[in-house]
Amino acid sequence: MVNNIHIIGGGIGGLFTGALLAKEGYPVTVLERGAHVGGGLQSFTRNGVAFDAGMHVVGGLQPGGSLNRICRYLGILDQLHFRQVDADCGDEVVCLEDDMTYRIPQGIEAFTNYFQQLFPEEKENIQRYVDHLFALADQVDFFFLRPGSDSSPSSDKAFYQSSKEFIADHVRNPKLRSLLAYLSPLAGGDAGYTPAYVFSLINYLYIKAHSRFEGPAEQLAEALVSKIQEQGGEVLPCAEVIDIQMENGRVQSLTTADGRTFPTDCVVSSIHPQSLLKVTGGQLFTKASKTRLMSAPNNCSAYCVYAVLKEGTFPYMNHPCYCWDSYDKVWQYGKYDEENWPQNFVFLTPCEVNQGPFARALQVVVFVPFSICERWAGTTVGKRGPDYEEWKRKHTELVLNKMEKVRPGFRDCVEHLYDATPLTVRDYFNEPEGSLYGLLKDSRNPYAGYLPLRTKAENLFMTGQNVYLHGCCGVPLTAVMTAEAVIGEKDVIVRKL
Ligand SMILES: Cc1cc2nc3c(=O)[nH]c(=O)nc-3n(C[C@H](O)[C@H](O)[C@H](O)COP(=O)(O)OP(=O)(O)OC[C@H]3O[C@@H](n4cnc5c(N)ncnc54)[C@H](O)[C@@H]3O)c2cc1C
Repeated sequence: MVNNIHIIGGGIGGLFTGALLAKEGYPVTVLERGAHVGGGLQSFTRNGVAFDAGMHVVGGLQPGGSLNRICRYLGILDQLHFRQVDADCGDEVVCLEDDMTYRIPQGIEAFTNYFQQLFPEEKENIQRYVDHLFALADQVDFFFLRPGSDSSPSSDKAFYQSSKEFIADHVRNPKLRSLLAYLSPLAGGDAGYTPAYVFSLINYLYIKAHSRFEGPAEQLAEALVSKIQEQGGEVLPCAEVIDIQMENGRVQSLTTADGRTFPTDCVVSSIHPQSLLKVTGGQLFTKASKTRLMSAPNNCSAYCVYAVLKEGTFPYMNHPCYCWDSYDKVWQYGKYDEENWPQNFVFLTPCEVNQGPFARALQVVVFVPFSICERWAGTTVGKRGPDYEEWKRKHTELVLNKMEKVRPGFRDCVEHLYDATPLTVRDYFNEPEGSLYGLLKDSRNPYAGYLPLRTKAENLFMTGQNVYLHGCCGVPLTAVMTAEAVIGEKDVIVRKL
C-alpha cells in the first residue's frame, strides 16, 4: 500500500482518478496549476450570466450510461443537475447551401428511421451502416466498463479505417454521407482521418442519449473535489508542477512553481504528454520517443464567441446546432479559409438552473487550427497587443454575420459579446496549441495518438484525454483504467460499478 499518491492536473482526468483512488482508501493529493480546479469543467460568469469554458454536451450521463455508472459509484450523482436533450431533436443540423434544417432525433432506432425516411432509396444501406457503426463501438470493452476487457486490436479492418471511408463504404448519396458525419467535430475535428472506431464511440454517446448540465459544468468538478476531501485527500490549486525528481527508475518527489516539494510514492499525470515531457526533461523517455512525442500532431483548437442575450429575445434550444455553408464543409472542421470564414461551426444555448423558454446565453464554437494566431503565440493574456484585438474584433464580426444567416435577427438579441481564441484555450487549459482533445487520433497512423497508462518510471502513470478517449465520458472511463493500474488489480473497480 502506497502512503501518498500525487496527481498532476486537477481537470476531468485528475479529479476522477483522484476520487476513485480516494474511494479505494488511497491518500490522494491533486496538484492543479490554475487558481480554479476543473480543467475542461471550468465555468465563468459575464454580466451575471454563466458560460462553460469547455463542457457543453455530455454523453453517457443518462441512466445506465458509463459516466452515470461511475458517478453513481462515487456517490456524486445526486449532486449533479442535468437534463436530456430533446428526444425528437437531440441535434440540429443547418445547411445554408439549400437552406435545409435537419432535426435529428435521439435513439438508435429513431436515428435510423429518420435517415431512412429522408433517403428511402438507401434504406438498407443506412441499416447496414448503423449496424456496423454500433458493432464497432461494441468491440471496445472498456467503453462499456466490461470486466475482463483487454486492449487487443480488433480484427475488423474498418476499426482503423477513416470515418470518411467508412461512411462511403456503406452509403452512396453524397448529401447523406455528409449528414451521417455531422458529429465529426466531437470525434476529433477531422472526419477525413478520424479512425472509424473513435467516430463510432462518439456516435454511440450522442445518438443514444446525450445530456447537458443545468447550471455550470463546474458542479461536477465541485462534487469530485468534495469526494476527495471527504476521504481525507487534498486538492491544491495554484500548484503547477515544474519538475520531477527521479532515482532508480522511480519518481521521488515533485516540485511546484512556488518552490514547494512533495515527496511521493506514486504519481498520476493527467496533463498533456508534451507538457509532461517538459516537466520531466529527458528522464522518462528515450531520445527517439521524445522526438516522436514532441512532433506528434494535436487536434485542432477553437475560436469561441460568447453572447449575453437580451432577456426574452432568443428562445432556449435544448440541443446543439451544427451549421455548414455547404454539405462538403462537414469534412472541413479545423480548417481555415480566410475568404469565407467561418464555413462550419456549432452553437448552443447553455442551460440555466430553472431554465425558462428564453436563453440568456449563446455560445458559438468554430473549430480552427492553432496556426491562425501563431503570430501572437509568444504573448500572454491581456498583453497580446492592439493588432490581436483588431483581429479578434474582425473574426467575431464574421461569426455574427454567419449567425445572422442561420438565425435571422440574432444580432438584435445580443447585449454583450466576449470571445476566446486558440491562445485563450492554450493558456486557460495549459494545452499545447490550444488543442481541444489533445493528440490527434489519425487513421493513417493509429498508434501515434495514444499513450500507454504506464511509463518507464514504475510509479508514474498516465491518465486524461490522451490515453484512450477524450471528452467528459471518455476521460472518466480512462480514469477507471488508470486507478486500477495504480492499485495493481485489474477490474477491482469495474466489478463494483
Ligand atoms: C472549448 C472546448 C469545448 C469542449 N467541449 C466539449 C464537450 O462539449 N463535450 C465533451 O465531452 N468534451 C468537450 N471538450 C473536451 C474536454 O474538455 C476534454 O476532453 C477534457 O477536459 C480533457 O480532460 P483532461 O483531464 O485530459 O484535461 P483538462 O480537463 O484540460 O485538465 C488538465 C488540467 O491540468 C492542469 N495542468 C496542466 N499542466 C499542469 C501542471 N504542470 N501542473 C499542474 N496542473 C497542470 C490544467 O490547468 C488543467 O486543469 C471541449 C474542450 C474544449 C477546450
